[in-house]
Amino acid sequence: MEELIDHTQPTMQRLSSDYLAELSDRQQLERAERQGNILQYYLAHRAGKEKVVTATEREFGKPFAEFTNDDYARFVGSLDWNRGEDLWEWSHVTGIPVIGLSQKSTFFFCNAHLLEDVQAAIEMPYEEVVKLKRGYDQESDTPTLHAADGRALRLREVPAGTIRRTATTGRFSHDENYAEPRIVLEALAPYLVPLEEVVNREFITRGLRALPLSMVKIYRGKAIYLTNLKGRSYSVGMPISNAVYKGFAGMQTGIFVEHRTGELTTHNLVHELGHVIDYSVIVGRYGTYFHAYQCPACRELKEDKDRVFGEGDSAVPQTDHGYVSSYSKTNAQESFAEHFAFYILEQERFRMQAEKEQSAGHPELMAKYRFLETLVDRTPVTAYRLSRSYLESLAE
Ligand SMILES: [Zn+2]
Repeated sequence: MEELIDHTQPTMQRLSSDYLAELSDRQQLERAERQGNILQYYLAHRAGKEKVVTATEREFGKPFAEFTNDDYARFVGSLDWNRGEDLWEWSHVTGIPVIGLSQKSTFFFCNAHLLEDVQAAIEMPYEEVVKLKRGYDQESDTPTLHAADGRALRLREVPAGTIRRTATTGRFSHDENYAEPRIVLEALAPYLVPLEEVVNREFITRGLRALPLSMVKIYRGKAIYLTNLKGRSYSVGMPISNAVYKGFAGMQTGIFVEHRTGELTTHNLVHELGHVIDYSVIVGRYGTYFHAYQCPACRELKEDKDRVFGEGDSAVPQTDHGYVSSYSKTNAQESFAEHFAFYILEQERFRMQAEKEQSAGHPELMAKYRFLETLVDRTPVTAYRLSRSYLESLAE
């Protein structure tokens, strides 16, 4: 106070555009520096992955792929989920990338994150973001972006191959050389948030801890994007960042978990994961385009899944029985994701309601419960890398 009242020159300056420009220059510089540091933070963690995986696998005497339920319970129990480092450890060992982001899914879907002018991108209204025209220049192997009026927009430099080339085998499409999906951190750099700064971590990690080993294993090749903005969560079930589906440049299939109040965050996380398991594991393809990881035993369940839950976004019967929540009556895909989340998070309540309905002559909910029991607890869930022989076996 003394400093303020007695020892400070009380000169007042009128607000001016010069003053604001200087302020904004300084802020932009500070932001660039901070974002550079965050990219380094991510790159350093990625570089440390092998060491973490080796140490854990040595401790258990086997690779993660051979972990039993008991091994996994011990591994999960050994983590202090309130520490950023332990979330990294889970991510490394399970092979599921977890990334913090400062923008929503639409922003990345439209590749607005590639714009050179980061400030303009952040300030761009969503009505404009969704009008961006995404492209890919085969020759230079780089993404392109045009405004609605056809103007080419300047992009930041991203590593070659950020958008993956595609190829076909028989009548199927896939990333060239059956390439494994990956996150190109440089493409996301200005929008990365350290995992320690992700809000609602407590509720996010509660969802992750609830996942059974089988579901963690088949989630391989997909990512989890945590965002600090309030909003609906969103699942990306199709193969992305390739010459056919150019959006989400530098990213891989996965779920966006946006910030919501407490418990809803946990539920959303598992619900979105259900969508991805539905589309990228059980269906395993998008049109004729194949995901890089395939679980044949899960794909064999597709017919059953369609019979019990319906297919795609088709309508479902609007009955007052057969559903765990009113939202699950939205359509077939929401019904699957919603029952999946209840099976993982509130299994006992789900089973009791299914039994009650069954004894009242309505077997529908029990059929859903039984399907999920088969998928989650009774199916060998090995994920295989996509290969020519796998695709040829489908063509016969
Ligand atoms: Zn949903």
